[in-house]
Amino acid sequence: MVKAVVGANWGDEGKGKITDMLAKEADIVIRFQGGANAGHTIVNNYGKFALHTLPSGVFYGHVTNVIGNGVALNIPLLFKEIKELIDKNVPMPKIMISDRAQIVMPYHILLDACEEERLGGKSFGSTKSGIAPFYSDKFAKIGFQVSELFDDALLTEKAARVCEMKNVLLEHFYHREPLQAKDVLATLHEYRDMVAPYVGDVSDFLDQAIRDGKNILLEGQLGTLKDPDHGIYPMVTSSSTLAAYGAIGAGLAPYEIRKIYAVTKAYSSAVGAGAFVSEIFGEEADELRRRGGDGGEYGATTGRPRRMGWYDCVASRYGCRLQGATDVVLTVLDVLGYLDEIPVCTGYEIDGKVTQQFPVTAKLEKAKPVLETLPGWKCEIRGIRKYEELPENCRKYIEFIEEKLGYPITMVSNGPGREDIIYRESKLSLKNK
Ligand code: GDP
Repeated sequence: MVKAVVGANWGDEGKGKITDMLAKEADIVIRFQGGANAGHTIVNNYGKFALHTLPSGVFYGHVTNVIGNGVALNIPLLFKEIKELIDKNVPMPKIMISDRAQIVMPYHILLDACEEERLGGKSFGSTKSGIAPFYSDKFAKIGFQVSELFDDALLTEKAARVCEMKNVLLEHFYHREPLQAKDVLATLHEYRDMVAPYVGDVSDFLDQAIRDGKNILLEGQLGTLKDPDHGIYPMVTSSSTLAAYGAIGAGLAPYEIRKIYAVTKAYSSAVGAGAFVSEIFGEEADELRRRGGDGGEYGATTGRPRRMGWYDCVASRYGCRLQGATDVVLTVLDVLGYLDEIPVCTGYEIDGKVTQQFPVTAKLEKAKPVLETLPGWKCEIRGIRKYEELPENCRKYIEFIEEKLGYPITMVSNGPGREDIIYRESKLSLKNK
């Protein structure tokens, strides 16, 4: 059975923890998109880890961790991450890298940084990990696929061709030193030697695993609203963040994905620029940021303070719909225990009209939040394991959100640890059966 864990919002919804939990039951965990530009935070018996490239199954000896073809593979960072695990006494994980994955090159990172610098205040908030230049090259058909590392004649010819193109930009647009084909080639050789033991035909491996009845988990990065097609374009990432893309980015049949866990946080946060309708500011935002997540809402990869907001039912309903949620996981609910009242965004007012539909970016920029206020529960809910034991106002908050989403909330996360989870029967999932 294939399951996917994906974000219903802007990312940082706490997917890492949910994947880590579900990975326990999985035989294979797969990253199918994105690169080292975002990260999951996982807290377990070994300590606290920020994973950027490695799949979240790396803490379980029985899991094969797969880097799918859809990923932007940064090879030095992958190995740096493996070393960090080993240094903290995690046993060497089982890893498989798709022979069809493509490689983030140092010049992708350089070009990303040059472009951010050039754009200045008008930048897209790139993490300068080279992701956008990487995917541009993939679709311009000048990327390096892992399989190509083993064909020296091809590498030599292509390295020269790529340098010719990149150097036009570097020398004449960004006024930087040109690339040397021999250096690019040396880097590719180094990468080849690093990945060689792990490379395989992932799609074939998964086909066999499905036939053998294995449990497979697809692990998404970021969330619906950062999808290049369905998100807040152009303030989006460069690969699809949707569960549907799991089929493509891993190489399996779309109908094999049976369970889609859309993860949504009990309040909103976002990084980078772009419209964020339910955003809050000042002391109200600072307090939520300080209390948020596990030790504050700061980027797992960049350390940047995240923008904060109230829960946005419009964006999240859209987020769950595009993911095709079979299950919604509501996370970080424990953080809201300090509030007397909790505002929730239930509509967008655009040009004087209220809508529940998530609009295209130009309209989104004009949207004002319609807020409804729910009473807070004013207590600590960490440690509670049964839904009925949650304070009444807390259950009302969950049920209010579920009704607005129209998708079943079957798990509620009330702390960063693996055990901090409440399973819940939802009327909506009963209806869907
Ligand atoms: P991801 O990219 O979606 O995995 O999100 P992050 O790495 O930003 O995770 C969000 C943060 O919240 C991490 O520090 C998690 O340890 C933490 N976290 C996850 N679930 C919960 C929860 O239910 N309560 C609290 N307080 N923290 C959580």
